[in-house]
Amino acid sequence: MVLSPRRRRYPPTRKGRALSACIFCRIAAGEIPSTIVHEDDQCLAFRDIEPRAPTHILIVPRRHISSLDDLTGDDTALAGHLQLVAARLAAAEGLAGRGYRVVVNCGEEGGQSVPHLHVHLLGGRRLGWPPG
Ligand code: 5GP
Ligand code: ZN
Repeated sequence: MVLSPRRRRYPPTRKGRALSACIFCRIAAGEIPSTIVHEDDQCLAFRDIEPRAPTHILIVPRRHISSLDDLTGDDTALAGHLQLVAARLAAAEGLAGRGYRVVVNCGEEGGQSVPHLHVHLLGGRRLGWPPG
């Protein structure tokens, strides 16, 4: 079952709805605008506000999960789904034959700045390795 962000226990707004402090939960709830390129019952995908490549899309589970560290065995299908959506979006962006990168930053040293699990899809230019 997919829990609506509105059912989480955050302070209620004046309208009586729960207001998440998490920016990606708020995007998923439609409270913050974004350029959404994919939506299904488990996740949504939207363009990064500060793109690091011609294609830079974030694939985000609807349910708040802080990071890879917080995945459990019950999330196996969800984790695979996020990867599959990334590959499908890469194809939709015309990247399938060219190559692209799918990245999850985890924690402080991993460079994670938003504490809601997200998969970066980057492509449209030659990407350096190793990342900084
Ligand atoms: P991280 O550094 O956690 O791996 O990636 C977070 C990403 O979220 C960054 O690439 C950043 O540009 C993006 N981001 C942060 N705030 C917003 C926002 O409000 N809207 C969108 N579309 N992207 C955001
Ligand atoms: Zn969240």
